[in-house]
Amino acid sequence: MENVLSALHKDRAYVGGEWVGAISGAVFEVINPSSGEVISTVPDMDDADVRLAIERAHAAFPEWAARTAKERERPLKTWAKLIAENVEGLAAILTSEQGKPLADARNEVLFAATFVEWFAEEGKRAYGETIPASQRDVRFLVVKEPVGVCAGITPWNLPSAMVTRKAAPALAAGCTMVLKPAESTPLSALALAALAEQAGIPAGVLNVVTANRGNARMVGQEMTSSPLVGKLSFTGSTAVGKQLIAQCASTVKRVSMELGGNSPFIVMADANLDVAVSAAIFAKFRNSGQTCIAPNRFFVHADVHDEFVSRLLRSIAKLQVGDGFKAGVSLGPLINEAAVDKVQTHIHDALKRGATLVAGGDRMPGTGHFFEPTLLTGISPQMLMSVEETFGPVVGVAKFLTEQELIAQANATRLGLAAYLFGSNAACIQRISRQLQAGIVGVNTGAIATEVAPFGGYKESGLGQEGARQGLNEFMETKFICEAFIA
Ligand code: NAP
Repeated sequence: MENVLSALHKDRAYVGGEWVGAISGAVFEVINPSSGEVISTVPDMDDADVRLAIERAHAAFPEWAARTAKERERPLKTWAKLIAENVEGLAAILTSEQGKPLADARNEVLFAATFVEWFAEEGKRAYGETIPASQRDVRFLVVKEPVGVCAGITPWNLPSAMVTRKAAPALAAGCTMVLKPAESTPLSALALAALAEQAGIPAGVLNVVTANRGNARMVGQEMTSSPLVGKLSFTGSTAVGKQLIAQCASTVKRVSMELGGNSPFIVMADANLDVAVSAAIFAKFRNSGQTCIAPNRFFVHADVHDEFVSRLLRSIAKLQVGDGFKAGVSLGPLINEAAVDKVQTHIHDALKRGATLVAGGDRMPGTGHFFEPTLLTGISPQMLMSVEETFGPVVGVAKFLTEQELIAQANATRLGLAAYLFGSNAACIQRISRQLQAGIVGVNTGAIATEVAPFGGYKESGLGQEGARQGLNEFMETKFICEAFIA
């Protein structure tokens, strides 16, 4: 396994520019979800380790913040270049700990690099403004300043991209960061930190602390209560996000929350079904359905329902499930046993309430958390899979007849991350896309995530945005300087 993991495999955390163990000496195991093998151990850190990392980030802040944006750009650009150059090693690490097919892992790594490259540039455009003053002999200036030390907490489903989508804008803005990756996927974050070190990002500017699930709450508590931390940027479930928002209240920290989704996928009667089916395959089955923007509820117009389902079925039949290192595999395993249980529960619940199973429906035999690509029809709003994120390779289709009924159902959720809309009538697309309560709407496409556009949710899917100039602004304070001239 060591060969597969490559030279970028780090089994220590990165704090203050040093590769360290936990103060307690504890470690935890990182498991390959395809084989169940232990691929590494990493430090099991707790509040004492996090406190130290915050202090190191606090000590590094003044020098990093004082640099010009152009001075920060150089090491950040080098970091982006090193990530892209090391795509093979990083992808191997990602597939080993997360399970996704190697080709998808490569795409994620290159996507991760785009955030670093883009924000390295965008740091130079953190413009303030001059406001015409309301009195003579006075100047009104608005300037942007870095928030300070930022804490980042990331999930396991995109273990590289979620790290750089936070760290790159934070560092470009002049902030320093202490980041905790998910228990299941710490190795990708550590490998990225190793490349940041090689790129010349100074000690203490980016710190990665690792902890198992048992310590996550303690780590979060330290991050959210520390007066040295100015902001928390979190990506993960809505339930944990709510807890962290409440914890941040005690020190009035800035928060960015990228939380769960329950995205509708809408196929109108005049949609190009080939386009809709290939987008459904991409958006739903990528990462075995384990993305926050994966379509979770399919609404297909009654006129094209049967044709859409039969074309989708033909495409699903071509999907290959297996170890992400095997050539030709399009779906890797689910992350763990709990994920398999959740998917199975959603399917059983739907069948019990009257859905029809068209394909799949079960876990695969043998080791690993593999699940069959599954297709159900006759989905109703009360079913668990309509109410919660399934986070697995399951398409559940419901029929609709009128636009009014469609909008009401699509918006009947407290979540509002993404929505997908397929159709050819421009006026109808305009009308529906404006009525959907979602932060991102894909029209006739399933590919909606890019570093150049804002990514964030409505309602309980989040607060703030990542990517684009909005993503940089999340790591900056706005200061008004009111300057009177004395003769
Ligand atoms: P999760 O259970 O909320 O965990 C996310 C991160 O928070 C992990 O690092 C986790 O550590 C940590 N954590 C858990 N409990 C914590 C606590 N009490 N205090 C501090 N940290 C805590 O979510 P997940 O299962 O890893 O990720 C899947 C979820 O993320 C889905 O809901 C998905 O939609 C969402 N997501 C959203 C976006 C977006 O951009 N909106 C992107 C990707 C994923 P452990 O791993 O050790 O538990």
